[in-house]
Amino acid sequence: MDDTAYFKKLECQDEAYEAMCRRCGVCCGSSTDDPCVNLIKQLDGTYICGIYENRHGLQRSTTGGMFACVNIRDVIASGAYYPNCPYCNPI
Ligand code: SF4
Ligand code: SF4
Repeated sequence: MDDTAYFKKLECQDEAYEAMCRRCGVCCGSSTDDPCVNLIKQLDGTYICGIYENRHGLQRSTTGGMFACVNIRDVIASGAYYPNCPYCNPI
């Protein structure tokens, strides 16, 4: 496999991984009364991150609490479990 095909394959794998997200926002606090300030509820009831490309690092919750936003892989590795999240329940 040449480099171009290899990187294309990685890109496709990344897109497939991202597509697993149901946009419930639970990992960003949507089900709590203190979600991340960057979490945006859309008209269809799903959520998006307002700063997705720059999300990693210190962020603030609506009550002013600071926390580190990290990859969902790392969130799960730290012991978090969201029952309806495909990343927590891979097929
Ligand atoms: S809990 Fe899982 S499905 Fe819901 S927004 Fe977070 S990563 Fe996506
Ligand atoms: S910054 Fe992180 S925790 Fe906040 S909405 Fe974006 S992904 Fe979720």
